[in-house]
Parts: sequence; structure tokens; C-alpha cells
Amino acid sequence: MSDLTLPPRFAVFGQPITHSLSPRIHRHFAQGLGIALDYQAIEATPELFPATLARFASQGGIGANVTLPLKEQAATLCLELSPAARRSGAVNTLVRRDDGWFGDNTDGSGLVRDLEAHLGLALAQRQVLLLGAGGAARGVVSALFEAGIAELVVANRSIERARALAHDLAACGPIQVCDWQELDQAGAFDLVLNATSAARQGVVLALPASLLGADACAYDLSYGDSARPFLEWATQHGAGRASDGLGMLVEQAAQAFLIWHGLRPDSAATLAWLRGQ
Ligand code: NDP
Repeated sequence: MSDLTLPPRFAVFGQPITHSLSPRIHRHFAQGLGIALDYQAIEATPELFPATLARFASQGGIGANVTLPLKEQAATLCLELSPAARRSGAVNTLVRRDDGWFGDNTDGSGLVRDLEAHLGLALAQRQVLLLGAGGAARGVVSALFEAGIAELVVANRSIERARALAHDLAACGPIQVCDWQELDQAGAFDLVLNATSAARQGVVLALPASLLGADACAYDLSYGDSARPFLEWATQHGAGRASDGLGMLVEQAAQAFLIWHGLRPDSAATLAWLRGQ
């Protein structure tokens, strides 16, 4: 039961969750717009997530973000999914309705908005290489095609997972699959996206310089220390632009904020504030 004297309740669910930037991002958005907001980080294992989410709703929770490792599970807990969530099979934004949860996925639109609005990249007719075929990779494919890319090559350590992605998302556009060992013959790309979690395990990806076309953009979906090895490789091998995924994080949050509050926050101001910290 919600108490109308209290600000509306929002949260991000994941495991681990203590280092999530989402509470700070949403509070900064709300502050900029003069909105009262209660946004907490709630730790939940996959086993406890359904009960934890149900308790959050019973205590007045009306919106939530979902992060690793709960995005696919969140999709199964929704009564209805947006087209983006249905295509990717993963939910990062939950909206409470009278009869249950509506699930959306704003990761893809967040990435595209960061690439176009903050990095000034025109995606139309671009050749794109996507490294990785996990949940984040799946989440961005349809938005990249909607932004007009010409071709997508997906390379993944386990080729079967890349093939499954290409099969499941074939309706989005032409997707080629490439073995990790075949990357030196894969050609040159305008945009190379790193959607692997290799650096989190201390693994530096061995990538041929030939992947970077003239004035290519290299983008790591992760940020902080995890993004550093890939971005160093890109700048050392002549990439025109190299960026981590902090802008994507802020933009996917801005899209969720718009869904919940009907207001678009000043995401550029929040990104500048975070980068300054
Ligand atoms: P998943 O666990 O679903 O997928 C991990 C991917 O990394 C798989 O493709 C896996 O390959 C690959 N991988 C893992 N270890 C290695 C390695 N040693 N060598 C090569 N490939 C490897 O994770 P997600 O897709 O959810 O997340 C990927 C990254 O994207 C994370 O760093 C996450 O933080 C970031 N992210 C950023 C967001 C943002 O807003 N900026 C939003 C969402 C994610 P295989 O299939 O062979 O195991």
C-alpha cells in the first residue's frame, strides 16, 4: 500500500548492487527537474528476486531498473513487454501497472543516443563490429539497425552464442557471425563495440588493428577500470574516437526516467557531473 505523503518509490535491483551509479544518476535528474524521488539500490539474488520485487511493489514501488544478473529473469516476471524488451529477451526498466509489471529495455536506445548526441557519430550506413553476444549485446542490436547501420558482424568467444543471437534477431537486419580466431580477416569497421565482460576477469582481448577503419569509433559498453584495456588498444591503434559506456548508462537511465515521469532530464548535465567526480 503506498503512502501518498511520501515521494514515489523507485529502485535498481541487481547483484552486486552497492557500486551501482543508478541511484546517483536518478537523484541528479530529479534534482535538476525539482522532483521529489525515493530511489534505492536493492541487492537480490536470482532466487530471491521475485519475492523481493513483489515486496517492493506491496510497499509502494512504482518503477525499477534491473541490472546483472537479473535482466532476463525480469522479463519472465512481466505481464507485458515492450517490443525492445521482447526482441532482446531482457528487461532493464519496470513500470508498475494495476495488474502487474510492464517491462521495457532502454539499453539500446541509450547506446544510440550516446553515440549520436554526445559523440557526434552518424550511424546511418555504418559497418559495425559487436564483440560479445551476452545480454548487453542482445539489448543493443535492434536499436543499432533502427538507427540505420548497414551491417553488423557479431564476434563471440563461444560461436554458438553468437549464432543464437544472429538467429533470434535476424528480423532486425543483416547479421554476420565471426569466430574470434577469424577477426584478422573480418575487415575494417566504422564502429567497434566491446560488449564483453572480459576485462572484469582481468582478461585483455587480443584484437587485430585491422578492425579499425579510417576514423573508426571504438566504444566499450563498460566504464571505469573495465573499459581501460580496450580503449587503450583503440587509441594506440589509431581509432578516431574512443569512449567508455558511461554515457550509455546515463542515457538508458534518462529514457527510464522519461517513461516513469513523462519528463526528459538534462542527461548531458548529469554525464558532465559524473565525469567531473
Ligand atoms: P553477459 O555475462 O551476458 O555476457 C558477457 C559477454 O562477455 C559474453 O559474450 C562472453 O562470451 C564475453 N566474455 C566474457 N569473458 C570473456 C573473455 N575472457 N574473452 C572473451 N569474451 C568474454 O554480460 P552482459 O552482456 O550483460 O554485459 C557485458 C558488459 O556490458 C559488462 O561489462 C556490463 O557492465 C556492460 N554493460 C553496460 C551497460 C551500460 O549502460 N553502459 C548496460 C549493460 C551492460 P561467452 O558467451 O563466450 O561467455
